[in-house]
Amino acid sequence: MRKSYLLTPGPTPLPPQVCEALGRPIIHHRTPQFQAILKEANEGLRYVFQTKNDVFILASSGTGAMEAAVANLLSAGDTAITIQGGKFGERWTEICNSYGINTEIIEVQWGEAVEAREIEKRIKANPKIKAVFTTLCETSTGVVNDIEAVGKIVRNSQAVLVVDAISGLGAIDLQTDSWFCDVVVSGSQKGLMLPPGLGFISVSPKAWKLVQDSKCPKYYFDLKAAKKALDKTDTPFTPAITLIIALCESLKMLKEDGLENVFLRHKKMADATKAAMKAMGLELFAASAASDVVTAAKVPQGIDGEKMVKTMRDTYGVTIAGGQGEFKSRIFRIAHMGYIEKSDIIFCLACLEKVLSQMGYKINLGAGVKAAEEIFNSHT
Ligand SMILES: *Cc1c(COP(=O)(O)O)cnc(C)c1O
Repeated sequence: MRKSYLLTPGPTPLPPQVCEALGRPIIHHRTPQFQAILKEANEGLRYVFQTKNDVFILASSGTGAMEAAVANLLSAGDTAITIQGGKFGERWTEICNSYGINTEIIEVQWGEAVEAREIEKRIKANPKIKAVFTTLCETSTGVVNDIEAVGKIVRNSQAVLVVDAISGLGAIDLQTDSWFCDVVVSGSQKGLMLPPGLGFISVSPKAWKLVQDSKCPKYYFDLKAAKKALDKTDTPFTPAITLIIALCESLKMLKEDGLENVFLRHKKMADATKAAMKAMGLELFAASAASDVVTAAKVPQGIDGEKMVKTMRDTYGVTIAGGQGEFKSRIFRIAHMGYIEKSDIIFCLACLEKVLSQMGYKINLGAGVKAAEEIFNSHT
C-alpha cells in the first residue's frame, strides 16, 4: 500500500466532497432539478471570477475555452496581440493563427513577466489591434503576470483584454470586473479542484460587441447560442452533468473558506516552498514574478532532472512536474494549487530532499522542510 501525492499544475487532487458528487447517479439535464444546479453553479462561478458578467460552462478542457474566446471575438484578417513568455502564451498565438488572425507577438523571456508598458506601446502604435491575449499564471514558468496593470491600459483602448486564468483562478486574486478583464477563460482541473472536462469563459459587455460581429467559423463553441440558452438557465447541448454537479461542491468549499482566505492559504504554501528551495541551495526559476500557484526551480548542475521527477513519482508516489519546451529537463515545478495543504507540501519537500541526496546532490536532509515549517508557523 502506498499513498499518492499529486502536486502538479493540473490535474490537482480532488476533495472528498467532489469525489462523492462524482459518484452520484446521473440525472437528466432538461429538468428543474438540473436547472437549480446550473443556477447555483453560475452564481458560484460569478463569485470566483469576481464578475457580474455571464460565465459560460463548456464541456472541454481549458484550451476549448481559449479557442472559444478566439473564435467568438474575432474574424479572419483581424489583428491581436499575444504574449509569449511560455508554452501557454504560445498557445494563444497558435489558436489565433489557425483562425487566420494576425498576431503581433510580444516576446518575453521565459521566467519573466510581461511589461504592461510594452503592451501600451503596441496598442498605441496599431489602432487595428482588436484583442490582447494574456496569461494570468504562465504555468510553464511559474510566472504571474500583473493583469491589473494590463487592464488599466487595455481598458482605454479599442481592444478587449482576454485572460487565460486556467491555472490561477480560485487560487490567486483575479478581479475580472475591477481589473477590466473583458474575457476570462478557465478550466476545471486546477484551482477549482475538479477532474478535467469543463471550460469556463466570462464575457464583458465590451467583448459582446465583438461577439456580435465575429465571423470566425464555430458551432459547438458558439457563445451566442450559449447565451440564448443561459438566459433560460439551460445549455445548448448536453452539458457535462456530473462535472457540473461536482462543480457546485467545489464552489461551495471556496465560498465557505472565502476567496481571501483561499488566496492567503496559497500564498503561504508558495512562500514555504520558495523558502525551502533557497534553504536547499536551489535557484528559483521565476525569481522576480513567481506565482503563488506553482513554484519553478532550476535542476542543480549534474543532476538528471527527468530522472529526479521520475524517481519521486515511481519510488515514493510524489508527482511533481518537470519543465516544458526547452526547459524540459532544466527546471522542475511544484504546484501548490487547489486541494493542497501544508502536510502535502512538507511531504513533497522531504521526498525531494531525499531523492536529490540519493542522486549525489550535497544537502543537509531536513533543511528545506525546516525552512518551510518556519514559514507555516509564522503569523504573517
Ligand atoms: C493547464 C493550462 C492550460 C491548458 O489547459 P487544458 O485544460 O490542458 O486544455 C492553458 N493555460 C494555462 C495557463 C494552463 O495552466
